[in-house]
Amino acid sequence: MDISDIQNYYDAIIVGAGAGGLYTALSLPETAKILVICKREPTVCNSHLAQGGIAAVYKPVDDDNTSLHTNDTFVAGGFKNNPDSVKILVTQAAQEIQHIIDIGVDFDRDDTGEYDRTLEGGHSRRRIFHHKDSTGAEITRAIREAVLARDNITFLDNALMCRLEKLDSGFAADVLKDDVHTTYTAPYVVLATGGIGRVYEYTTNTAIATGDGITAAYELGAQITGLSLIQFHPTAYHDKARECFLISESVRGEGAHLLNCHKERFMQKYDERLELAPRDVVSHFIMVEAKETGSDEFYLDITHEDRDYLAARFPMIFEFLLTQGIDMSKDLIPVYPCQHYLMGGINVDTSARTDIDGLYAVGECSHTGVHGNNRLASNSLLEALVFGHRAADDISAKLTTPTEPFSYTFEEPADAVHIPTGLRTEIRRIMQQAYFVIPDKEQARTGFERVLEINKLLEQGNFIIDRDYVEAKSLATVAYIILKEII
Ligand SMILES: Cc1cc2nc3c(=O)[nH]c(=O)nc-3n(C[C@H](O)[C@H](O)[C@H](O)COP(=O)(O)OP(=O)(O)OC[C@H]3O[C@@H](n4cnc5c(N)ncnc54)[C@H](O)[C@@H]3O)c2cc1C
Repeated sequence: MDISDIQNYYDAIIVGAGAGGLYTALSLPETAKILVICKREPTVCNSHLAQGGIAAVYKPVDDDNTSLHTNDTFVAGGFKNNPDSVKILVTQAAQEIQHIIDIGVDFDRDDTGEYDRTLEGGHSRRRIFHHKDSTGAEITRAIREAVLARDNITFLDNALMCRLEKLDSGFAADVLKDDVHTTYTAPYVVLATGGIGRVYEYTTNTAIATGDGITAAYELGAQITGLSLIQFHPTAYHDKARECFLISESVRGEGAHLLNCHKERFMQKYDERLELAPRDVVSHFIMVEAKETGSDEFYLDITHEDRDYLAARFPMIFEFLLTQGIDMSKDLIPVYPCQHYLMGGINVDTSARTDIDGLYAVGECSHTGVHGNNRLASNSLLEALVFGHRAADDISAKLTTPTEPFSYTFEEPADAVHIPTGLRTEIRRIMQQAYFVIPDKEQARTGFERVLEINKLLEQGNFIIDRDYVEAKSLATVAYIILKEII
């Protein structure tokens, strides 16, 4: 066997370096040879953007306990959650919070030195650990630093997984970095590729969220569950940018009111939980109110709070709004719903195993069933850690049986051409019209026909396998599965 084949053979390949992928890598034994890849810079991922925090019953305050966290998770999820996964999520939470504190995550504390917990929509107790309003950046910073300090982990950024093949002895991944394709092999692969937000015109998600891992798993025949279970966050900053800035749930948690175009509160007409009803409920009633008032103007009002408090509690949001000419202590914040999160994904069991032997999925690309029909705020970072750890435990147990290195060669298409331009824009427009908060069946049916054609074109054409192709194919596949579910 060629020496380069052995060099490119790993015990496990982890595709994705957000909270899910990084924490899986860190939880694997230091004796295992691990490859972690991410397709852009390490901070370009949804985990980095997480503002509000991470929910957990850890050294609880406020009479909190895991039964209450369980109940809140079920209520938000419409009782469609998987009870086994929820039980694991809430009971394993304390262990993972302790671990990330041990590796240096700096959660905010109150004047007494206790961890400060905030409240978010759907939570009956203050249980959201946070680092100002940039919790995800802090958590991934600490985990990434711990991962980079490990000699057994190779970390490649700007490395795109283009193709994934299942072989008798494991998997081969075709990875494109600096315009060069390299094949890596391993008996185990963990997909931690994040969400699908970029299939919409407007989303809070980063540019990486094109559903590449879901597409790779789908092509290998893995079960994909509930891909139309999409969360539309009620309060994105309303400026019609493709990547919408999120005005975190915790702003409402700290008392912001939601106003309609007449600058009047309206949630009391629809739900007794008012602004702190779960996200799907608030987004739904924003759409209902928009129809009633004939306007898509909505605002958050937290002007009753002190300026210094807001600047200290929400520094990132405060600064961002100032760049838009808005002082949140004096001005209303224009908001509107926006694609935010995917509850469905690659179906996995409670050890994050897909139904393809050796293939795992963790984080937002997976469907553990913890979220049911609607994710409870701040449960997703927790899900990424808990199930990332469980995937690592399962792989660790299997690694005790030695495996032989193997190699594989992907076919390179000859005389291939670049994909036609405009396909991704077209898919985004279709999805925005067909399914934004409330599905439009008529638009979904016509959109589905066009998405079928685009899928056929991408499958049958002789295209150069580059980032444009991979992401267009992912968006087309994801749109196809979502629309098929709703028509
Ligand atoms: C604005 C915003 C705020 C949020 N706030 C919160 C919050 O307060 N609390 C909370 O719990 N959740 C929050 N969420 C949700 C949460 O951040 C995500 O669900 C979670 O972090 C997802 O982690 P992940 O590891 O699955 O994916 P990501 O963190 O998105 O990481 C995906 C990784 O996969 C890589 N990747 C993708 N495709 C490929 C490919 N083909 N080849 C190689 N690499 C690939 C990417 O480069 C990236 O490294 C928020 C989300 C957003 C967008």
